[in-house]
Amino acid sequence: MAASRQDNSPETGALDYDVIIIGAGLSGMYQLYRLRELGLTARVFEAGTGVGGTWYWNRYPGARFDSESYSYGYSFSKELLEEWEWSEHFAGQPETLRYCNYVADKFDLRRDIQFESRVTSAIYQDETRSWRITLESGAQHSCRFLITAIGPLSTPTLPRVEGRDDFKGQSFHTARWPKQKVDFTGKRVAVIGTGATGIQTIQTIASEVGHLTVFQRTANWAAPLHNGKIDAETQGKIKAGYGEIFARCKETFACFVHTPDPRGAFEVSEQEREAFYEKLYGERGFGIWQGNFRDILIDRAANATISDFVARKIRARVKNQAVAEKLIPTNHGFGTRRLPLETFYYEVYNRDNVELVDLKQTPIERITPEGIRTTEKDYAFDIIIYATGFDAITGSFDKIDIRGAGGARLKEKWTHGPETYLGLMVDGFPNMMMLMGPHTALGNIPRSIEYSVDWVTGLLRFATEKGLTFLDATPEGTAGWTDHVKALGVGLLSNEVDSWMTGINRNVEGKQTRIVARYSGSAPAYRARCDAVAAQGYVELRLG
Ligand code: NAP
Repeated sequence: MAASRQDNSPETGALDYDVIIIGAGLSGMYQLYRLRELGLTARVFEAGTGVGGTWYWNRYPGARFDSESYSYGYSFSKELLEEWEWSEHFAGQPETLRYCNYVADKFDLRRDIQFESRVTSAIYQDETRSWRITLESGAQHSCRFLITAIGPLSTPTLPRVEGRDDFKGQSFHTARWPKQKVDFTGKRVAVIGTGATGIQTIQTIASEVGHLTVFQRTANWAAPLHNGKIDAETQGKIKAGYGEIFARCKETFACFVHTPDPRGAFEVSEQEREAFYEKLYGERGFGIWQGNFRDILIDRAANATISDFVARKIRARVKNQAVAEKLIPTNHGFGTRRLPLETFYYEVYNRDNVELVDLKQTPIERITPEGIRTTEKDYAFDIIIYATGFDAITGSFDKIDIRGAGGARLKEKWTHGPETYLGLMVDGFPNMMMLMGPHTALGNIPRSIEYSVDWVTGLLRFATEKGLTFLDATPEGTAGWTDHVKALGVGLLSNEVDSWMTGINRNVEGKQTRIVARYSGSAPAYRARCDAVAAQGYVELRLG
């Protein structure tokens, strides 16, 4: 398979591939494309039966972008940009999955992707400076370089409550949604969880089901998405304007088309502030979160002004004021968790067939064969939907037995939180690069993916040109970056709140303590730092 590959193994024999990539989502697909350009042999191992990652697995009703479609697609191919037309400002999952398949076909990616192949371990071989990966089937493959493209939100988690397997009806986690359509007609349906996923699901199925019961543990702030079809004229403008759109995403804090307003919330009058919030609430997308006053996510008093504004909107939209109060978060400020965007979500609670159960008042005791038992009563259901989130950021790494030099386990190295070099490498794990791992700039994720893939490709080009077979971060480099990431998180209100962004997941053993798992500086600053490392010939790495 790797016949044309130059064997640069220091000691022996042929490795199966120059590079193995784990995962065929947006990161893995683009990485494969770039490695082919370098002339390296690469194999992608993917657990699913198709490409798309997040968009392959998350087939739940109502799943869609909340970045503008035209800022989300790949930017690397002019031809692709010219050919593909997004039908909505925020495309739905079926369209995005079609897009992923279109990309795979266009660039003939599938011939190097092996589907239904979950990687269970990756062990570094000191003697041969290579990696040996094992699949669930027991098959093994070797490579010089290992690239993880396993996504920050790809390991779903279920509540740790008794009786889950006893339920006689249908039940699904949203990220393991069946490929065939689920018929909700006349059904009694439960949704557990009110994060971005739960909200999209609830607002979509409320009108289809017989009766819907929403089990909410923590209320989340949400704001309108304002989606719409893209008309022909706008389509033309988008295509002509791609250069500007991507240039803007490159300049903004988190790679969205939105970026913080330079003013502080108290630098304008109360009327101006109210008018600004009103404008943002009426606009498409993340403007109210990413394009708001510069201090709403760091200053408690500034945050209180937008929280108060959105709380008033919720009270105005929900008729039953007791229900409205339950939907208004009291333990965190607006935008300090990842903001879900909604489409008539709050109006769902004005329907006769929808009921909200506040799990803070009446926690779930167990799942029964018929439904759900809370401390208050038994509920009967035909379908239970778990919109209960993910073991985020480090969870997918934890699931693979990754061992570096001398057999050191990555999971053990990260017991007290991830330690990385630029979010891309980890000292002691030579020749392993991570795409969208911990400590990297996430934001509008395909923009970040393209940058990280290009950086990794640059490093591998350098290694190939110099005949290097060993690339490792230094302990100082890893400690320095980890400290930097932690320092950037100081003062952010989001780091004082329990959420997947702070590494909390009560459904997972050992994930009850907040950690700094994501880079929270600006994307331009992140890129400048990584660019400097490349420009200086990667002297910060141990090379051999
Ligand atoms: P999430 O934000 O972690 O929300 C999980 C929800 O389930 C929370 O409401 C949580 O309550 C609840 N929950 C978890 N375990 C529970 C239990 N044992 N009992 C009761 N409730 C429980 O997960 P998510 O909604 O899947 O979203 C994760 C991230 O994926 C988002 O923040 C976003 O970045 C991404 N996403 C993006 C889109 C998009 O539009 N592009 C859509 C969906 C998701 P607590 O808050 O009390 O823990």
